[in-house]
Amino acid sequence: MTARAGVVVVGGGQAGHSVVSALRGAGHDGPVTVLADERHLPYQRPPLSKKAHTDPDGIQVALVPESFYRERDIELRLGDRVAALDTAAQAVVTESGTRVPYDHLVLATGARNRALPVPGADVPGVHALRSLDDAVAIGKALGTAGNVVVVGGGFIGLELAQVAAAVGAQVTVVELAGRLLSRAVSPQLQEHLRQRHERGGVRILTGTAVRAIEGTGRVERVVTDREVLTADLVVYGIGAAPRDELAREAGLAVDDGVIVDEQLCSITDARISAVGDCARHPHPHAAGLVRLESVQNATDQGTLVGRRIAGSPAPYRSLPWFWSDQGAVKLQIAGLRTDTDEVLVVPGDSPERLAAYSFRAGRLVAVETLNWPAEHLAARRLLERTAPVFRSDLTGSTLGALARARRSVEVRT
Ligand SMILES: Cc1cc2nc3c(=O)[nH]c(=O)nc-3n(C[C@H](O)[C@H](O)[C@H](O)COP(=O)(O)OP(=O)(O)OC[C@H]3O[C@@H](n4cnc5c(N)ncnc54)[C@H](O)[C@@H]3O)c2cc1C
Repeated sequence: MTARAGVVVVGGGQAGHSVVSALRGAGHDGPVTVLADERHLPYQRPPLSKKAHTDPDGIQVALVPESFYRERDIELRLGDRVAALDTAAQAVVTESGTRVPYDHLVLATGARNRALPVPGADVPGVHALRSLDDAVAIGKALGTAGNVVVVGGGFIGLELAQVAAAVGAQVTVVELAGRLLSRAVSPQLQEHLRQRHERGGVRILTGTAVRAIEGTGRVERVVTDREVLTADLVVYGIGAAPRDELAREAGLAVDDGVIVDEQLCSITDARISAVGDCARHPHPHAAGLVRLESVQNATDQGTLVGRRIAGSPAPYRSLPWFWSDQGAVKLQIAGLRTDTDEVLVVPGDSPERLAAYSFRAGRLVAVETLNWPAEHLAARRLLERTAPVFRSDLTGSTLGALARARRSVEVRT
């Protein structure tokens, strides 16, 4: 019997889940199949680096219960990895040899961690964090770890450093660049965050290269170009790369992600879309194409593609936003900081609160906040609107006050 073609989604993560839930939400009643290589129900990844220590038997992260898919007649095939795309015949081929035909294919394959390129990176006790299984393994190891070395001072590394410190471990973060979060956060906030981590008991070594990881049968030390660190648990987070190999092997345009147009269709084949961490797309907030790794991007892109397939097309314009919980610090970012030329730091009404407004040619394009959710929400409201916010609008005013003032003008006019 030949399977009926329909919508096939490769990848059962945040973006893949959003596609199928938007499809059914918009009334699409054709066949829908999700092929997911992991064996868990689609789940959210943010708690993995923030709550790894809270329940070593498995954090509760499923996006919806299994009944969600059953009740909506969505075929969810877990543990079924797609090995190749046959775009000429409009079918995907799974590792188990099954061919699954499609009318429309959505690639939602996410990203994979970059490997740590040093001798000893495969010694037991050295972990990367991406999947629920990784988080469970790290959570168990944290139960007995006295000395934890985190390699990489990015979001995931710093979140895990705080988790390890919270369970009483001695924690050292080793970062190759001269600053923490060097690509993602303004220099002003980088320094502030460093001080917060150090005050919380985490040792930070920036400008430091890991040369090797050593141990007999299990990790014992991390050798850096400055000193040798004792370690019984090493966790590394040194960036991720898109899982775009299926698209590349099928001849689709790929350049650090599957290249899509503003509708999120492959620029090579309009019967294929790509969403989430694996997609490189045009965005009105960026000068060129961008690839974003965030829950907001995965969710909004998945929703847009689901609605488009169901008959309501729209260009992708969602404002990018992101958050990272690092111990007692909640960092939130609205907008994109690329090509900014000025940063204005604004203290909040308590010492824990801070905002940094980033400008491009005098226009506000991104806002970072620490422990200041109301200011973050005001930033999102203002950046989503077409009326720009200029540097001159912000003398002595927070975005919260400006958003309120503009709203009252809108109400009066
Ligand atoms: C530890 C961690 C913490 C994070 N914290 C935050 C945060 O605080 N805030 C935030 O905004 N973002 C955070 N992120 C990023 C966010 O989780 C991702 O951007 C989001 O999950 C991307 O969704 P996605 O569906 O594109 O990819 P994923 O959620 O990674 O899902 C992709 C799925 O596709 C599967 N797959 C890949 N290839 C195949 C194949 N050939 N066949 C079948 N299945 C395949 C993968 O195994 C995976 O299950 C975090 C990420 C991690 C790893």
